[in-house]
Amino acid sequence: MVKAVVGANWGDEGKGKITDMLGETADIIVRFQGGSNAGHTIVNDYGKFALHILPSGVFYDHTTSVIGNGVAFSVPALFKEVNDIVEKGVPMPKIKVSDRAQIVMPYHVLFDEYEEERLKGAAFGSTKSGIAPFYSDKYSKIGFQVSELFDEETLVKKVASVVEKKNLIIKSLYPGKPLLDEAELLKTLHEYRDMVAPYVTDTAKFLKDAIKEGKTILLEGQLGTLKDPDFGIYPMVTSSSTLAAYGAIGAGIPPYEIKNIIAVCKAYSSAVGAGEFVSEILDEDQAKELRDRGGDGGEYGATTGRPRRMGWFDCVASRYGVQMQSATEVVLTVLDVLGYLDEIPVCVGYEINGEVTKDFPVTTKLAKAKPVYKTLPGWKCDIRGIKNYEDLPENCRNYIEFIEKELETPITMVSNGPGRHEIIYRNK
Ligand code: GDP
Repeated sequence: MVKAVVGANWGDEGKGKITDMLGETADIIVRFQGGSNAGHTIVNDYGKFALHILPSGVFYDHTTSVIGNGVAFSVPALFKEVNDIVEKGVPMPKIKVSDRAQIVMPYHVLFDEYEEERLKGAAFGSTKSGIAPFYSDKYSKIGFQVSELFDEETLVKKVASVVEKKNLIIKSLYPGKPLLDEAELLKTLHEYRDMVAPYVTDTAKFLKDAIKEGKTILLEGQLGTLKDPDFGIYPMVTSSSTLAAYGAIGAGIPPYEIKNIIAVCKAYSSAVGAGEFVSEILDEDQAKELRDRGGDGGEYGATTGRPRRMGWFDCVASRYGVQMQSATEVVLTVLDVLGYLDEIPVCVGYEINGEVTKDFPVTTKLAKAKPVYKTLPGWKCDIRGIKNYEDLPENCRNYIEFIEKELETPITMVSNGPGRHEIIYRNK
């Protein structure tokens, strides 16, 4: 059985918490795209953790964590994270790294910084983890596969040719920046090789065998639909697909095996970085209040600490987000955060050039969209600690059911707190 946990919005929906929770009944948890750019925050019996590269199910003794071929694999980030969690008392995780995963190189991180510096005001708001330069190189066919670390002849030749090319770029595009050194890069790659050697696996085969054995596999997505390079708010997107469908490619499993797609959707909106955001709260005091009350200790980036942009729930973007994920069910998260509001605006349509639409448009049209709001009554109480759906205040249930209708997909779980057990199951 293969399940996917993916984001329906702009990321930061609480996928980490949901994966950690579902990890209890999973055998294998797989990262299939992205890299160490976005973070998942998890609160469980061991403490509070911000994971970037390790799958969120890493805290259980019984799970195996897989870094799939689709991941932008940062070797230092992986080992730093493993050390951090082991130091906090988590048992040493069982990790497998795909022999086909490609490696984030030190120069990818540098080029990310240099490019944001060069673009100044027009920058993409990158987390400077090297993700865009990494994927550019992957598809330009000058990336380094993990397997290549173990073939010295190939490695030496490739390092020489890549360093030559990168230095030409540095000289012309980023003059004044230090040039890359072939010997130093080779030394770093030898260190990476020795670090990853025990974990390198043909993970596609490993997963194929696991499926045959009836194991439960959880694919953990990073970011959300609206950051997908094809279906998101291009160009303010990430560089690898954030869709569940890509799980088949980024993990190397048959698409028809993904039976259950759980889209994680926030009860309000938040986004990091630049880009179109129709239901953004423009009043800074109002936005700040929601930001400071949001998530677990405020809506600030898990990787960068940047304040997130805040908005009301957007039915147009979220329905699209859920449907592009081909979600079989939805988890609505952070609902507890909204308990302070008398009334809650919900964006139900976009007005573009005088016409109202419920369909999520391409970015050029999105830039002209104005939100059409419907206001729902708040419930004015703290819903944390509630375990049964029927015990939620009526206005709160109405809010959930209104959203469910708009999403055209069943909301099977409601998250009412950051903790692993703060979840309300709905019996449909
Ligand atoms: P991810 O990248 O999708 O895993 O999301 P993040 O970890 O960046 O952001 C989610 C934040 O919200 C984290 O700080 C979580 O601990 C927190 N969180 C998750 N679910 C809930 C919830 O239902 N209520 C509250 N208050 N916080 C939650």
